[in-house]
Amino acid sequence: MDELQLLVLWCCCLLLAVVALLFGRNPLLRHPPLPRLHWLLTEGIPTGASAAVQRVGGGRRAAALAAADQFCCERSNPAVQVFFLALFAGCYWVFAWHVFPMLPLPGVPAWHRYTGTAAALACLALFLAVSWSDPGTVTPVNAAAHAALYPHDGVLYPERKQCATCCLPRPARSKHCRVCNKCVARLDHHCIWINSCVGLLNMRLFLAFLLATTALCFYAAALGFRTLAADMAVHETWGVAFRPYGASEMIYLSQSKRLLLRYLSAAYGPQAAATLFAGMAAWIVAGFTGYQLFLLCRGSTTVEEHMLRQAAATPTAAEAEAAEARRIEARADAALRGEALPDRAEEEMQQRQQQQRGTSGRPYDRGPARNLAEVLFPRRHLAAAAAAAAGRAGGGPGGKKRA
Ligand SMILES: [Zn+2]
Ligand SMILES: [Zn+2]
Repeated sequence: MDELQLLVLWCCCLLLAVVALLFGRNPLLRHPPLPRLHWLLTEGIPTGASAAVQRVGGGRRAAALAAADQFCCERSNPAVQVFFLALFAGCYWVFAWHVFPMLPLPGVPAWHRYTGTAAALACLALFLAVSWSDPGTVTPVNAAAHAALYPHDGVLYPERKQCATCCLPRPARSKHCRVCNKCVARLDHHCIWINSCVGLLNMRLFLAFLLATTALCFYAAALGFRTLAADMAVHETWGVAFRPYGASEMIYLSQSKRLLLRYLSAAYGPQAAATLFAGMAAWIVAGFTGYQLFLLCRGSTTVEEHMLRQAAATPTAAEAEAAEARRIEARADAALRGEALPDRAEEEMQQRQQQQRGTSGRPYDRGPARNLAEVLFPRRHLAAAAAAAAGRAGGGPGGKKRA
């Protein structure tokens, strides 16, 4: 196996792991092997490693491993941010030192050097901006305004509660992030890539960053592919025949994918690797961006989708009682008629009830346009909700206004 094939295999494994970590618990991809891989990466390997260290190194090393795990996964730290920046810098370095100097080529003008650099800088600026943005931290000053934004629906957010850590009233759709150790309004999720929460105030920046990264990856992949193809055309590589070691006949590059891979690996190693990586990363990031847009349009968040899935999997007490009553009645009927018990129909009814409970409970869906407007103009939306609440509290438009 040559270098490029090893690289392809490594990239595929890496991207599969990323997909499993990102989407392994998503209901759209609930069929194996992604959920199993997600479990293996998040629970199987850490548990196995801990048990192995405990057996080999004793309690002190196991405690050290647990402390390292807690530092990496439970506390705010910039390890993944640094990894992203290193990956980003590495890819840009390959383009700046290996692809841009090849330009201009027929069909690939030299100005791609400048547009490529500008696109990378824009993406980097958005990454830094979203990493250091306020996701919508609930503080004593703004808690009342956030509380006016969304009503408690009685299902996902049953009642007004106080956060036990922040000692502040918890507005509907807010959650306490244990990594950042703060309550965040309309929390979508904690993102390890930006080492911050994604919430009401920075969702638009996060979305802009995702869209920019998707566009940059597709641009890099297309530019790399066209540059390599144009350079090979200029050098008339397609018309050159090779005789592989041990072979008796001459073979053209276009006739053998294996030979083409070897040639690309030898003649354009860094360019081909960066192009391949950009192409695969583009589809991954595009998938995640599409999922975020899908959630935004239906007025939901990643956290709420998780809560809905949990609610769908757990029958309420009333439903369990009704199901038991139906089961007893069906058993009695079947016994009277001398027939077998109709368990299948009962199971199907329970599944239908659970699916309805899991998919129909999106109380904050106000239509795609309004859902998007809330996220694109959060401060305006927040101010309008606070003013409306102040008006109601003051008995009408003349009432005392809240900040
Ligand atoms: Zn809190
Ligand atoms: Zn967080």
